[in-house]
Amino acid sequence: MSALDTNIEKLTGFLTRFKETGVRNRIAGEDREGSAGVFQSTSPVDKSVICDVAHGTADDIDAAAKAAHAAFADWRDMPAADRRRILLNVADAIEARAEEIALCECWDTGQTLRFMSKAALRGAENFRFFADQVIQARDGQHLKSPTLMNVTTRVPIGPVGVITPWNTPFMLSTWKIAPALAAGCTVVHKPAEDSPLTARLLVEITEEAGLPKGVLNTVNGFGPDAGKALCEHQLIKAIAFVGESRTGSLIVKQGAETHKRNHLELGGKNPVIVFDDADLERALDAVIFMIYSINGERCTSSSRLLVQDTIKEEFEAKLIERVNNIKVGHPLDPATEIGPLVTEEHYSKVTSYFDIAREDGATIAAGGVKVGDEGYFVRPTLFTNANNQMRIAQEEIFGPVLTSIPFSTEEEALQIANDTPYGLTGYVWTNDLTRALGFTDKLEAGMIWVNSENVRHLPTPFGGVKASGIGRDGGDWSFEFYMEQKHIGFATGQHKIMQLGK
Ligand code: NAD
Repeated sequence: MSALDTNIEKLTGFLTRFKETGVRNRIAGEDREGSAGVFQSTSPVDKSVICDVAHGTADDIDAAAKAAHAAFADWRDMPAADRRRILLNVADAIEARAEEIALCECWDTGQTLRFMSKAALRGAENFRFFADQVIQARDGQHLKSPTLMNVTTRVPIGPVGVITPWNTPFMLSTWKIAPALAAGCTVVHKPAEDSPLTARLLVEITEEAGLPKGVLNTVNGFGPDAGKALCEHQLIKAIAFVGESRTGSLIVKQGAETHKRNHLELGGKNPVIVFDDADLERALDAVIFMIYSINGERCTSSSRLLVQDTIKEEFEAKLIERVNNIKVGHPLDPATEIGPLVTEEHYSKVTSYFDIAREDGATIAAGGVKVGDEGYFVRPTLFTNANNQMRIAQEEIFGPVLTSIPFSTEEEALQIANDTPYGLTGYVWTNDLTRALGFTDKLEAGMIWVNSENVRHLPTPFGGVKASGIGRDGGDWSFEFYMEQKHIGFATGQHKIMQLGK
């Protein structure tokens, strides 16, 4: 039996329960039907129906918000050591079901097993990392003034909403939910409608690992009803959102009436800048990895290659050869490097840029074609002879599609790199230290890597500038979002209090 066949057989076993019961909402530790019935989840691999999914609306969000509210005080007041132990149990339980999570995620989203096998482990790591921060999360400062002993403390903000997208949904959900729980918040999670399976596994796993009922609630549904209702709900104190930039604007508007605190992780059109003094072999590997891994459906992908004109021809020639060699195929085949795009809608969007590129006068140097018609497969694509004004250089395509743009000087590279509405990540390849220092200082991005692909380190801040987001995750930055700073001043003596009306 091939590795692919073995994986398909295992997946079939894991999907049986979803076929029988569908994906239900989970509210206050109980399975609930969706108040608007069900919708269907399909696989991008062969367009087959995976299962029914509870179609939640404002009523279900209301029930979940009330459950999160009811569970809040006990969770907040639980001794930190106990909360920590539960979160560590969750991490262990995720690892124990890593294969199930990975296979379901691949089938639901089209991501390849090559990359998703690590997504569950990264999810576990998110829980482990934030569990270890629980003990000191409440710690504050002592700021003495002449008449007062001033102390600060941090308290969890309350029940929060977490709204996640379909790209690497398990990892991203844990990335938001783990620090919220560690801070002492309770959560209502609204996963993306296009990838509901692993959010269901996550809530099950957390409860089995000892998370009290109602601390994490999951409501499936669509953005304009369930998502909007979550943003508008009075009992929900903050929204942690990951998704498109235009949805981010809606999140802010919808939460305005109830004064929501928002954390927005949004889109990107990230540049990778390759100077001619760089280690070009390593730069080539990183350029390819950062746009063609994870199907290019990755917010931090480097979708604009800015290559110095002195090396452009040679670099692009090597790039074309490698891109044409990338293996597109079944996501459960361990040899596959690119699987199908997540939905028909997204496939249509990504492939529409092939014509847009031609109309704008760019060259399709590799790919630019669909593969078969069983699922939503495309060849990895490279556009050359492009300039930064073209739509293929300005708009987030969010697929395995790279636009290559030449530059001659450092100043020009910087101008092109910053000439975008987005500012999530930037990647700079040069062996000139002074240039790297100056360039990164002026590059408009929340996260920059020099001579490296994106390597996430959990204590560092994660987030974007401009249309790529507001706020930071990671380390203590996550707690800044999920917690309120509280100041308490204690009089140290009988200082003079102004006496009115005496
Ligand atoms: P999306 O904005 O369409 O959807 C994200 C989530 O928002 C879904 O759960 C959806 O149901 C919900 N939603 C939609 N409309 C809503 C509304 N009016 N109110 C409340 N919720 C609503 O994004 P997507 O297409 O699922 O995901 C891809 C996008 O996510 C890309 O732009 C990508 O760059 C971005 N992303 C950013 C990061 C980051 O860290 N910056 C990480 C991953 C993905």
